[in-house]
Amino acid sequence: MSVVTRFAPSPTGFLHIGGARTALYNWLYARHTGGKYLVRIEDTDKARSTPEAVQAIFDGLAWLGLLGDEEPVYQSAQLNRHAEVAKELVAKGRAYYCYCTPEELQTMREEAKAAGKPMRYNGMWRDRDPSEAPAGVDPVVRLKAPLEGETTLVDHIQGEVTVQNEQLDDFVLLRGDGTPTYMLSVVVDDHDMGITHVLRGDDHLNNAFRQAALYRAMEWDVPEFGHIPLIHGADGAKLSKRHGALGVDAYREMGYLPETVKNYLLRLGWGHGDDEIISSAQAVEWFTLEAVGRSPSRFDLAKLENLNGHYIREADDSRLTDLVIAGLGNVDETGQKRILKGMDGLKQRAKTIVELTENAAFYTASVPLNFTEKAQNLLTEEALSHLTALTAELEAMPDWNEEAIEQAVRTIAEKADIKLGKLAQPLRAALTGSTVSPGIFEVAAVLERAETLARLKAICGTAQ
Ligand code: GLU
Repeated sequence: MSVVTRFAPSPTGFLHIGGARTALYNWLYARHTGGKYLVRIEDTDKARSTPEAVQAIFDGLAWLGLLGDEEPVYQSAQLNRHAEVAKELVAKGRAYYCYCTPEELQTMREEAKAAGKPMRYNGMWRDRDPSEAPAGVDPVVRLKAPLEGETTLVDHIQGEVTVQNEQLDDFVLLRGDGTPTYMLSVVVDDHDMGITHVLRGDDHLNNAFRQAALYRAMEWDVPEFGHIPLIHGADGAKLSKRHGALGVDAYREMGYLPETVKNYLLRLGWGHGDDEIISSAQAVEWFTLEAVGRSPSRFDLAKLENLNGHYIREADDSRLTDLVIAGLGNVDETGQKRILKGMDGLKQRAKTIVELTENAAFYTASVPLNFTEKAQNLLTEEALSHLTALTAELEAMPDWNEEAIEQAVRTIAEKADIKLGKLAQPLRAALTGSTVSPGIFEVAAVLERAETLARLKAICGTAQ
């Protein structure tokens, strides 16, 4: 039987980082086994499932390359089918109408509370004749759950987990208004979509036992389960905004590359020896559910940053240039060419695309440049006189390339009897407005002669 997995988010306005990891594991497991990966939007909560909220999920998935292999399924479109299944179960005697009044339920709740037990429906309509139904109560449909024995699920991640059936009461399948409950919808959809493996957060582990009872009542094959431990913050507490529990869109805005986020999420809860940098292809080859850890993993922003630095250095220069240009906005052709030419030097230093963009901005600036305070401090009168001499040297030399520029700087430094840095640092300030940049000879080469001279003359006061 070929594997079919699914990612089934409830739209909340963004693709949560934990959801992205669930999607990734489902995608990887399907790819690893040569199966299929599907996406289902659980949009039955109309208030939350706005078109924007749904779009945010797709945007996040598209960015990570985790859209489904087929058109997505919308749970809200299947509600009639879910209701039909509930009625079929009633017809088969596997479910029943329950006419409990709110007061009766309240009494059950209070009794359970007094006994210090969780609320369990007492089955009062399980075997009662519907002809006894009170007037004016819209009945709910409840599953006839097994009363005795136990249910064991062999979870691919959690191992063998057993629950006493008396813990599972006759839960509701259809509400009084005829709408299906989440528990029913999930099971029917997973069955109809042919899902063989349900991989999701371990906050759904308890649901799996109820869902298994429902599958059995319908005489459907119970899918295999894998419940993934939640993500915690670096301090071990449950992940919150403070720890980086953001939507993937926030990571995109902070300048992380999708391959970084994927690699990071892969390692967050799954491991292959000591390997930290794992390509998508490698992950597909290695991914197994058994290697998913059983304890919560800790989210570590510093690790994410380091990984991003790696993927930025690996990334194609023209792709990075496009990202930088989009970030800067309004870059003319000359600026674009300079950024592309200077990208190899720029990308060695940046941890995020935001940083890369900031570092690249000087290539598109025009005179007079803005200077950081530190850069300004380097441009002393003495430095300016050396730069004036350098300007003449640069203007006169025949070839314009990194080596020739370096040679010119060395010549002037030697003539003035100063260390190379005493000239190179003010030169950096003059050309970039800053004290940090790629190698300054490379910068001058990328800027080309006319712009280099214009920037020098602008601060040496020799501009025409
Ligand atoms: N829609 C559920 C959620 O977003 C997931 C349901 C499931 O995976 O079974 O938490």
